[in-house]
Amino acid sequence: MIYPDENSADELQAIYEASLDVDMEMAEACAVGDRIAAIHKAGGCAHMSAQGYRPNLGDPDLGPGQLRCTASDACQRVFPSQQAWYDAMDQALED
Ligand SMILES: [Zn+2]
Repeated sequence: MIYPDENSADELQAIYEASLDVDMEMAEACAVGDRIAAIHKAGGCAHMSAQGYRPNLGDPDLGPGQLRCTASDACQRVFPSQQAWYDAMDQALED
């Protein structure tokens, strides 16, 4: 949208700068995706998905608040809390 107090060059510059921001976000997302793929290719797990405790449903070995990694059949790690799961994801990407 062009307002009376700005010219089309300002608007085009803003659109261009916004597209650069999107490019940066996409590059970061692709880098994370590549990192996750590399971890799995090396036989590790980045724990990017998990199943939480549900009474009388799902995983009978989980207790309240616990989650089990479902990102890899080989992993199946149990986390004591959602925060512990988030911390494990962050740790996997940092290693
Ligand atoms: Zn895992």
